[in-house]
Amino acid sequence: MEQTALVWFRRDLRHFDHAALSQALQAGARVFCVFVFDRDILDALPSRADRRVGFIHAAVGELDAALRAFGGGLIVRHGRAVEVVPALAAALGVDAVYVNRDYEPTAIARDAAVGEALASAGRALHAFKDQVIFERDEILTKSGTPYSVFTPYRRAWQAALTPAHLQSFDVASLAQHLAPPPDGQGVPTLAELGFSAGNLSALSLPTGMSGGEQLFADFRDRIDRYHEQRDFPASKGVSYLSAHLRFGTVSIRQLASYAHFHGGRGAETWLSELIWREFYQMVLWHRPEVVEHCFRPEYDALVWDDWPAGFAAWCEGRTGYPLVDAAMRQLAQTGYMHNRLRMIAASFLTKDLGIDWRAGERHFAAHLNDYDLAANNGGWQWAASTGCDAQPWFRIFNPVTQSQRFDPSGRFIRRYVPELAAVPERSIHAPWMLAPVDQQALGVRIGQDYPAPIVDHAEARKRTLARFRAVAPASAGTR
Ligand code: FAD
Repeated sequence: MEQTALVWFRRDLRHFDHAALSQALQAGARVFCVFVFDRDILDALPSRADRRVGFIHAAVGELDAALRAFGGGLIVRHGRAVEVVPALAAALGVDAVYVNRDYEPTAIARDAAVGEALASAGRALHAFKDQVIFERDEILTKSGTPYSVFTPYRRAWQAALTPAHLQSFDVASLAQHLAPPPDGQGVPTLAELGFSAGNLSALSLPTGMSGGEQLFADFRDRIDRYHEQRDFPASKGVSYLSAHLRFGTVSIRQLASYAHFHGGRGAETWLSELIWREFYQMVLWHRPEVVEHCFRPEYDALVWDDWPAGFAAWCEGRTGYPLVDAAMRQLAQTGYMHNRLRMIAASFLTKDLGIDWRAGERHFAAHLNDYDLAANNGGWQWAASTGCDAQPWFRIFNPVTQSQRFDPSGRFIRRYVPELAAVPERSIHAPWMLAPVDQQALGVRIGQDYPAPIVDHAEARKRTLARFRAVAPASAGTR
């Protein structure tokens, strides 16, 4: 054990059950750790109050403190990772850099560039699987091709699972090899990075490893009811762990292991959602062109509407469809949106407003705390019917019946659309049906206090069917 090593943290902001850190500690006598606030990512963000930067900043602070408690600590830099990491590796004189693999195309390109720069100086880049249980081409069909339907993928995933896949990577017993940051500098403030925390501290989103553990502990008490509660945005039915999964402040092995061994319908359904996460990561890895193109190429010929005012109304929660508006306002105010609402809001943009899924995907990407390219692209292409194992194009969500079904009492709507607070349950899903005299009495005049519906759903449905029929394969074209 002679090596000195540098562990480069990215979307894996924890010190426990960490593949790259554990491997570096096994191989190296002195192990440095670095996190780079990457200008290539940060400079492109649309807002200087981006909640995700605040979330990462808090997680980095907690990680630094945890590593310091072991005698190590984080070297924190603000610059272009492609330049900073090779330069730091040279300055520290390490033999190798250790990372956990990232499957997004830009991250793959970044890591390839870093790997080349390191190699030209005689250093190695070692990459490990960490953020998924199964990666890349580990789960393939019998004929060796990637799955394009989720259920057989899930079955194959579960059949391939062994206890070894769920085993944690040891860090604590090797931590004596951690080296403290040589420059003694701590974590820069958010202001020094050019950001403010936005309203992060006002949200019920605890940060860092401790926040991830707090949310998971809370969810463990509710997991047995997950399958019954998960579709109702007004109820606390889901785990709210997505931002933690995105930034690696929780370990996927620990979560999947808990769900697998706990058993029961709630835990099984939740494990299946974790497998959807891996399904879309697998799709992105095999088909990186989905970032710009439809997974099913024939749908690239769809002719979408160019309707800036419709798009703005959707973004701002002013469509006149209460549950869609509540969903979009939840996103704007908190950076979170419940899964059922993501499906409804995405369906509304593409199938009711006829706007290209890529515009909606970009809006979600700018605002979601848990934004993840693979899951977001997969979710949007599912809703738009252009994707892998997607919603069939002729099945179009009715925003009113979805609202009646999944927010029956209007509790969620009232939380985010206070204009409708006084509207009774039977009218809240379609308030434009109220007689003018009742609108007056309730203090919500449609078209003045709250928008009239921006489209007629029945008409929009016909236009969408025609749009898809024009390009759909012959087998589906008769509908
Ligand atoms: P839970 O229900 O507790 O699920 C646990 C975890 O499983 C989630 O945290 C997530 O990591 C994973 N998961 C659950 N559902 C899905 C799914 N359908 N696809 C992939 N992974 C899933 N998820 C993101 O993490 N980032 C995104 O950018 C994202 N964009 C989406 C866009 C659209 C249009 C749609 C329909 C879905 C999107 N999802 C995305 C998936 C899903 O909505 C969120 O993961 C979920 O709402 C997060 O809340 P939770 O952690 O409480 O979920």
